[in-house]
Amino acid sequence: MKKTVIPASLFAFSILLTSSYAVTAEQSHSKWGYDGAGAPSHWSTLDPANQICGTGKNQSPINLTNRIEADLSPIEFHYDVTAKDIVNNGHTVQINLNSGAYINLDNHRFDLIQMHFHAPSENHIDGKSFALEAHLVHADKDKNLAVVAIMYDIGTENTALASFWTNMPHMAGDSKATPNNTNIASVLSEDRDYYRFNGSLTTPPCSEGVTWLVQKQPQTISDAQLKAFTGTQHGPNNRPVQSVFARPILQ
Ligand SMILES: [Zn+2]
Repeated sequence: MKKTVIPASLFAFSILLTSSYAVTAEQSHSKWGYDGAGAPSHWSTLDPANQICGTGKNQSPINLTNRIEADLSPIEFHYDVTAKDIVNNGHTVQINLNSGAYINLDNHRFDLIQMHFHAPSENHIDGKSFALEAHLVHADKDKNLAVVAIMYDIGTENTALASFWTNMPHMAGDSKATPNNTNIASVLSEDRDYYRFNGSLTTPPCSEGVTWLVQKQPQTISDAQLKAFTGTQHGPNNRPVQSVFARPILQ
């Protein structure tokens, strides 16, 4: 099912009711999304807190190209947890996890908070856009963020995602239980090589200082799995690629 669309007549009526409350009207216009008045090109002006979406020099996503060879130390994954629930928050579908999972990056611990999806992919690799991209969002004790990204091409069914997607939440605001037997480690690509760069949140307020770790090895999802996800969204939920500026992209 699609999300409920407010009939224009009802919308006009609600404007009439709230016309003396400028703040209410303002708020109704400041909703971010991926098309129309809330589209990515407008994010920086929707709210003063989003200014960096337009002015930042370390914005995500990017096209990963002109990479620099570096001796990247392996990411230590400690992903021995199961999912708590799966939620449609109106911008994506998010898998919330039971606590305890983390990564060690250069001997620095980042706790895994949640996993969510974008279709098509937000980051590109050598100009290529993928069918789907997963973001595993981590935070250290000082709230610094690190995101592990996984790319998906259309192909054979992804068994790890299948177990989490058995109960897809179709409507914004829906929350569903997930089978409590699949370890989140199963979603990772077997080959743990990765690209690394500094970036930002890909949604408002586009805060910078996020460490991006993109797994090199793409996975596959079936066409039906992709449709199961895109069917829960209004349309594409990817921010366009941003300028790299002076950032090194390490591999
Ligand atoms: Zn994301």
